[in-house]
Amino acid sequence: MPGLAALVVQACVGARALSAGGHDDFNQGQISCRRPGAGEFTIKGALTGFDEVTPADFVAAVVDPAAPVAAKAPPELPLHQAIYAARPEIGGIVHSHAPAGLVFGALDAELEPLSHEGALLAGAVHRFRDTSNTVLTIEVGAAIAKSLGEGVAVFLVNHGSVIAGRSVRHAVVFALMLERACRLQLDALASGRTYSVSNAIDVIAKRDYIFADLSVRSYWEHTNRRVRREHPDIESWT
Ligand SMILES: [Zn+2]
Repeated sequence: MPGLAALVVQACVGARALSAGGHDDFNQGQISCRRPGAGEFTIKGALTGFDEVTPADFVAAVVDPAAPVAAKAPPELPLHQAIYAARPEIGGIVHSHAPAGLVFGALDAELEPLSHEGALLAGAVHRFRDTSNTVLTIEVGAAIAKSLGEGVAVFLVNHGSVIAGRSVRHAVVFALMLERACRLQLDALASGRTYSVSNAIDVIAKRDYIFADLSVRSYWEHTNRRVRREHPDIESWT
């Protein structure tokens, strides 16, 4: 398990990848990480966007909602606190207002195994509808954590989405996959034509092979190389 400083570098690389994957909405949205089970975590500060964040922009936070909050912590900190409290095995969380996920979340439609990503996420992304406002309280955060359940992601209807992973690398890869799955299905729906989806046997096989830990690691390694090629300033962080 990397040290916290190394995790923050991963989170920053992940943030740049999220930006490239269409997750930007000005400076909004967050990425956070911790060692699974830890009571402390670190989160992108409120002022910077996914496209520009560096390790210096991350702020320390704790899972306990009663603890003092850093001045630069994002207002939606309770969302992360509640999910980390509910899911000890989780090591990374992404919350964004990515457009395809936002539009798909507002539709009366379920994600289908249209693509590889869809095979992972089909029927597994619930919708949270209690409020579409910014998550400002631990009560709303806890309700979202309940809607997430043991899943990978939840749509915050008319707001955005939340993606959780057992590492920040998993959370980033799954966030990129969710946006792509939503975009592809929206494109298929917009065509107005009928379309095919993978059968149940293929869905099980894809979940076993394409989303095996070793595979997710290779998607992260590719993402990491790509981001570092496009953002040479990252080399000065390590
Ligand atoms: Zn938000």
